[in-house]
Amino acid sequence: MTLVSTIRSRAKEPDQICADAFDLARRSLLEDARVTADTVGDYLGAEATADRVVTHFFDCTDPGYTGWRWAVTVTRAPRSKVVTVDESVLLPGDGSLLAPAWVPWQDRLRPGDVGIGDLLPASADDERLVPFVVLDGDDAVTDWFLPRADSEDADAGPQTAAEIEVPGRSRVLSAYGRDDTAERWYEGDHGPHTPLSEAAPANCVSCGFFVSLSGGLGRLFGACGNAFAPDDGRVVSADHGCGAPSEAVLTGAAATAAVPVIDELGYDLVDLPGVSVEETAFEPLSRETYPESTAPESTAPESTAPESTAGPETPPASETSSS
Ligand code: SF4
Repeated sequence: MTLVSTIRSRAKEPDQICADAFDLARRSLLEDARVTADTVGDYLGAEATADRVVTHFFDCTDPGYTGWRWAVTVTRAPRSKVVTVDESVLLPGDGSLLAPAWVPWQDRLRPGDVGIGDLLPASADDERLVPFVVLDGDDAVTDWFLPRADSEDADAGPQTAAEIEVPGRSRVLSAYGRDDTAERWYEGDHGPHTPLSEAAPANCVSCGFFVSLSGGLGRLFGACGNAFAPDDGRVVSADHGCGAPSEAVLTGAAATAAVPVIDELGYDLVDLPGVSVEETAFEPLSRETYPESTAPESTAPESTAPESTAGPETPPASETSSS
């Protein structure tokens, strides 16, 4: 048996009478649609839209619509040779500049977009939340009660309704919301995979400033209560860390003073007007040169005084005074 598809796979051939009416299309564009003549460019061709319905395209020369095309659709009735204009529109072509596709606002929101005075209520079907009244068989209840200490099951909750502490809210975190939160926190700036954490001498779990959360999230997360820590007041994972854990011990190397970058003790010899370093004879200070009562203390380090290579040797004070 041969199957025959009823769907046409070939593009329609334009109706010849309608395809010949490109002059009518251009005239309609200028007269009926009142498009200014200087924005209608070359004829680009025609396409069959349906039986006896053809769209003619003209280039749009408006500099604000580069790549766009004027499209004028014409049609005719069966067994009639009178062609009439159906519609005229401006359509984008290949490479035309288009506005970005519209995205619903709830899909556009990013963390940090909610500012002062903004309202962002969670939708009724937000999968991160479950109604408070859903108790049986829902992991969400573990988010707002402490596991029973007398149970072998760490997830065991209250046994009767009277044991349930009313949280004062109609919805609580769902299992999905809790896992999503845990993953986000753990992979974020306050988890173990940060430069700060990897350089830390100890983890938060051993730090006295670590305050565990209650419920299921408390097994891995807590708040940092160290005013001097970069994560003070933030939720951190137990294997996070910083340079200020309560039990950090300073090593000797850390207490050694660093070598100053600027040398403030040495000095350079420079020429002055009438005094050349080259021609100056340097002598080590001695008690013969200066009597003990008047001799100044030498402050020039020996290593920095150049040896005299030019000029006469300075005579002793006694020779100078006798000549
Ligand atoms: S001080 Fe540092 S190690 Fe201690 S809880 Fe805070 S972040 Fe963790």
